[in-house]
Amino acid sequence: MKILVLGGAGYIGSHTVYALLDAGHSVVVADNLLTGFRSAVHPEAKFYLGDIRDIHFLNDLFAREKVDVVIHFAACSLVGESVKDPLKYYDNNLYGTKVLLEAMVSNGVDKIVFSSTAATYGEPKRVPILEGDPTEPTNPYGETKLAMEKMFKWVSNAHGLRYVSLRYFNACGAHESGRIGEAHNPESHLIPLILQVPGGKRPFISIFGGDYPTKDGTCVRDYIHVMDLAQAHILAAQYLLNGGASDIFNLGNGVGFTVKEVIDVARAVTGHPIPARMEDRRAGDPAQLIASSDKARSVLGWNPQHADLEEIVASAWKWHHTHPNGYEE
Ligand code: UDP
Repeated sequence: MKILVLGGAGYIGSHTVYALLDAGHSVVVADNLLTGFRSAVHPEAKFYLGDIRDIHFLNDLFAREKVDVVIHFAACSLVGESVKDPLKYYDNNLYGTKVLLEAMVSNGVDKIVFSSTAATYGEPKRVPILEGDPTEPTNPYGETKLAMEKMFKWVSNAHGLRYVSLRYFNACGAHESGRIGEAHNPESHLIPLILQVPGGKRPFISIFGGDYPTKDGTCVRDYIHVMDLAQAHILAAQYLLNGGASDIFNLGNGVGFTVKEVIDVARAVTGHPIPARMEDRRAGDPAQLIASSDKARSVLGWNPQHADLEEIVASAWKWHHTHPNGYEE
């Protein structure tokens, strides 16, 4: 199949491009490179520089490239930033998706897989979380992703387009080659920050809160390998091509690890003592986020291959210690 990957220079997008090419598909990437990196894009993918808020760019792209499915990663994804600058998220995530849908409808492109997030649930009432559980986002990032899902639903109703929304839990790890990996500036995610300590860029890791109602008092998250996420996108695209109905799926391993447990795994993987310092809670952090991904397993046939946290952290470490400044020279 021929796939257009929007945001294919970003973290999860770039890994999905590698997986798509590996599976023999034809791949076109578009990215505005505001947070993505040109060198993260696989050399065999055709690259277009442009912004999804630019209708002329999209119309031109759809005229040139007859794509079967769009995979849409082109969004801002930092919780803290979204609280400080909500309109940036409404503009890029919501308005950008509105323009994209307009272009898809007018160009007759009717299948899309897109990134959603566990942040759509907010503070969960129970774990593991099922797709039908209440969605009450606690920040503009989750709010705009939830609004995107609803926009897809209504546009699908009106124009017959079909979509799959994938709600990721905590994406982490890197491609086995060590050529691409996670690179945010500034970095805010736990595993890359922990690995900055053995990488010599940070003297200690901060633990945001030790008084949560969890087994050791620190937050519990469901860490899912980025290549397992990439596989889910391929399966979702195939599902739509096979006539599958629009739907929403959680993507996680169904197992929770505390912040302290993740630090311990990183100590074992790197052989570094990784000093840790307890700090106050970070605003808006739920105590526990654990996915039920039974639906993705049964409907899409998804079967994560890299669930072991040591393997996940080792793959991240392979990337970070060979690229201490990410993609920047
Ligand atoms: N966290 C932490 N120290 C850090 C960064 C994150 O203790 O320097 C915690 C954070 O409070 C959360 C977990 O690690 O409980 C995962 O955070 P991350 O930002 O990686 O992902 P999120 O769960 O916010 O999507």
